[in-house]
Amino acid sequence: MAADKNTYSFLSDHTRIPNIGLGTWKSAKGDVKNAVIAAIDAGYRHLDCAFIYQNEEEIGEALKEKIKDGTIERDDIYITTKLWGTHHSPSRVEQGIKMSLTPLQLDYVDLYLMHSPCGRKFIDDKTFFPKDENDKNAYDDVHYVETWKAMEKLVEKGLAISIGVSNFNVSQMEEIVTAAQVPCVMNQIEIHPAIDQSDIITYCKAKSIALTAYSPFGSPDRPWASDKDPNLFEDPVVKEIAESRGCTAGQVLLAYHLNQEVVVVPKSVTPSRIKENFEALSIKLKPEEITKLKELNSTNYRACAMNMLKDHPYFPFK
Ligand code: NDP
Repeated sequence: MAADKNTYSFLSDHTRIPNIGLGTWKSAKGDVKNAVIAAIDAGYRHLDCAFIYQNEEEIGEALKEKIKDGTIERDDIYITTKLWGTHHSPSRVEQGIKMSLTPLQLDYVDLYLMHSPCGRKFIDDKTFFPKDENDKNAYDDVHYVETWKAMEKLVEKGLAISIGVSNFNVSQMEEIVTAAQVPCVMNQIEIHPAIDQSDIITYCKAKSIALTAYSPFGSPDRPWASDKDPNLFEDPVVKEIAESRGCTAGQVLLAYHLNQEVVVVPKSVTPSRIKENFEALSIKLKPEEITKLKELNSTNYRACAMNMLKDHPYFPFK
């Protein structure tokens, strides 16, 4: 078995997570299997999945292949997936995780996250963006603390080793922390140099809740991207640091998190980039470089603003 080149963060439930994982949102069917295989071959031992990405079947095939050829055993790889809003009702949470476990061909995931605090109305197992009679989003106002309590039962049943949340703000986190009988180990949120997330980062660190940075490159391939959005790869500060160190802009953007004890999940379906991104693990930025990068947050740019949920009672980004 190949040597493990990962570094790890320790979580409050005494488990550990590899600091870099492969993101899989928008990784199309037909591409994602090869991307996962390329990632495992490059040394990744962490995949960031979600039911709503609708590609878990191919990820499961890739995992099966890499286990069969002896590159990894199940326990060597850390799998995160996420509960979608249509399954927030406590009676549907177990079905929610099984809808990921089945395509992934797994008995358990390492980390199960509530994808956001916002529940959506359940219609059937094939309707993920339910609408009401006026063609507006149809919500389920089940409170996320109720959903959380049902997620705790998944740990008791061995379907998830650890549980956490995603896209939660400080006051929502506080409610989870107060109610939790099983520790909330993670909040997965958008973090990159152009967004100011200092309040939620400070809160999570004070409570020993780890952070995963999603969209570390600003999610340039998201469906609603516009030419007017900041291009982090072309930012002069990022480029200057990359040039001075002989590395790429992408590696600087990943090292930014890895050097601040934040887990990061860059998405790519391109084998050369998958490898390049993994190699960011060896880059040590100077404190003054991190400070310079942090100064880019004056634009407070959010790539995943979840605008379609603005009228939800638990919309997190006010
Ligand atoms: P990223 O910020 O990771 O950017 C992905 C884009 O960057 C793709 O177009 C990719 O191209 C390109 N790219 C990757 N590496 C490089 C490189 N080294 N040089 C140049 N371009 C590169 O976007 P995501 O929004 O996908 O975020 C990452 C992951 O975070 C998601 O895939 C998902 O797993 C998670 N996420 C979670 C959310 C949540 O609500 N919890 C929300 C959003 C993301 P290509 O693939 O063509 O190589």
